[in-house]
Amino acid sequence: MLKILCCVKQVPDVDQMRMDPETGNLIREGVPAILNPQDANAVSAALKVKETYGGEITLITMGPPSAEAALRECLALGADNAVLVTDRAFGNADTLATSYSILSAANTQDRFDMIFCGKESLDGATGQMGAQLAQRFGMAQVTSTLLIKDVNEETKTAVVDRELDEGVETLEVQLPCLFTIEKKNYPIRLPNLKGKLAAKKKAITTITSNDIPGLDRSRIGDPGSPTKVPRMFPPVMPEPGVILDEGSVEATVEKLIGLIKD
Ligand code: FAD
Repeated sequence: MLKILCCVKQVPDVDQMRMDPETGNLIREGVPAILNPQDANAVSAALKVKETYGGEITLITMGPPSAEAALRECLALGADNAVLVTDRAFGNADTLATSYSILSAANTQDRFDMIFCGKESLDGATGQMGAQLAQRFGMAQVTSTLLIKDVNEETKTAVVDRELDEGVETLEVQLPCLFTIEKKNYPIRLPNLKGKLAAKKKAITTITSNDIPGLDRSRIGDPGSPTKVPRMFPPVMPEPGVILDEGSVEATVEKLIGLIKD
């Protein structure tokens, strides 16, 4: 049976987030947390593979206990298992520490044939996690995956289309492989009532740092994060432009030349 791991992240709804102009800190109070939209696309891709070829989908998220809501949302869509990696020791993690923590937690669960990630998160938006996880799991990776066209469990291969700047590339890859998903062919699904009720009853496995044998504590959380954020500030917006229209080309050009001379 195909073992599929799907990485999902709960993020603040950044459209509703503001920055304190004095301190540069993000004001998180009152900002709702949502499932990272691109991860909903990744879950759609995982579900499509499961529906077509069979398999079992395990969700994994690293975040605060409230991230359970994101897992329940995906369980309601048809994922089978969910793992919440949560512990103060994992807090203040940059991408390097996050990918190590997710790898370590996932390894306590199973060996996976396919790993799905969103293209990027709405908040951090580095787009680094997919590549880092593939490297850490020691598996192949396909970024910008447009379509999974075939999965062969016997030969442990998959055929996929990958988006390029100009065109599409078709690849045959060896499993295990990690895929970061483009949203085009995998629209976000909405759970039905039956799914929502079933999801409420499903058990979620919680993993803390104490549950991972051999975890290197110098590689998680703050101590494991070489990236430091010394300051945050809103982008400096360019001066708005002016559109000239004096009624005729001649008059407009004359006006423009006058402005340049000034
Ligand atoms: P991307 O690389 O853009 O995400 C790509 C995909 O990876 C996602 O679509 C998803 O499929 C998967 N993915 C990403 N993050 C997770 C996750 N957590 N669980 C499961 N799958 C995931 N964030 C905090 O929440 N709390 C902190 O205290 C914190 N401290 C930080 C301190 C520093 C110095 C820095 C630099 C960052 C900190 N962050 C913190 C942000 C955190 O490191 C990133 O959000 C995280 O590493 C993922 O990176 P990203 O958001 O850019 O994901």
